Amino acid sequence: MPIDSNILVVDDDPINVQIIANALFKTHRINVATTGLNALRITQEQMPDLILLDIGLPDISGYEVCKMLKRNSVTRHVPVVFITARDTDLDELHGLELGAIDYIRKPFSPALIRARVNNQLLLKHKTDQLEQLAMLDSLTAIPNRRNFEQELSKVWSVAQRKSREIAVALLDIDYFKQYNDHYGHAAGDRCLQLVAKTISESLHRPMDFVARYGGEEFVMIFPDSTLDETIMVAEKVRENIENLHIRHEHPDIQGQLTVSIGVASTIPTQHKMDRHILEEADKNLYRAKKMGRNQLFQA
Ligand code: GH3
Ligand code: MG
Ligand code: MG
Repeated sequence: MPIDSNILVVDDDPINVQIIANALFKTHRINVATTGLNALRITQEQMPDLILLDIGLPDISGYEVCKMLKRNSVTRHVPVVFITARDTDLDELHGLELGAIDYIRKPFSPALIRARVNNQLLLKHKTDQLEQLAMLDSLTAIPNRRNFEQELSKVWSVAQRKSREIAVALLDIDYFKQYNDHYGHAAGDRCLQLVAKTISESLHRPMDFVARYGGEEFVMIFPDSTLDETIMVAEKVRENIENLHIRHEHPDIQGQLTVSIGVASTIPTQHKMDRHILEEADKNLYRAKKMGRNQLFQA
């Protein structure tokens, strides 16, 4: 059972609040709102793990609160459980149709509240874990491509709003097929983990981002960064990987594993993400390969 969760109790009747709080305070942190608008504000600020929501409130109804929470992309995922004296099936149906995950009719027993709340919290906890896993690459534990796509479009719209430069770098391991063929797939996997770790550790600004783009390709995003700054960091990444001195016997390289990098940058002019920046980075990566690998290329 996920203990010590944050629960927001929204009810204007102090006796109800007291009963609910008594049922839950031993295992959870309880916050209280006595109006609908307050509930919306607290949810935005504190992102509770669960909301217990009364329907008859002094300002806007609990139904309204639920509707607004579910319309907002930030608060949409907070589970809402109605807890109310409105006790017809139609009331319950209406509540569930608005996106509530459960509906408890008053009067209720504290044990029932506890059991239902804990069930919902467990479900939320598992869903959160799954969502996090779905955003990570299972081999390297860094963000995966789906995560990258989301991050880039987020960063893109901020850059567009502020007219700031944004840069991406595509990194591809040199002669990795031969590495696998020669040292085996398991060694190849360990190599990918080490490269992922080295890239992550080479990025020092909190907003810089790296993901596994696929196979032996990685992609970095540098928001609010000039092309010169990006080139400096990407060059450092390349150098740090070279300095791992991972043995790689191949006639065209100096006996150790290296990477090639293509960089592109732009100041977004339209709100919707334009994939041109990725195509440019890919072209530049191709040029870096053509020019002999173990280097960076920018247009
Ligand atoms: P280049 O220098 O032109 O990039 O040549 P390359 O051999 O690195 O490129 P190519 O695209 O021909 O081969 C990529 C290889 O990466 C093929 C595949 O065996 C290997 N690879 C892709 N994903 C994984 C993985 O998850 N684990 C391991 N061990 N190898 C992988
Ligand atoms: Mg490749
Ligand atoms: Mg490669």
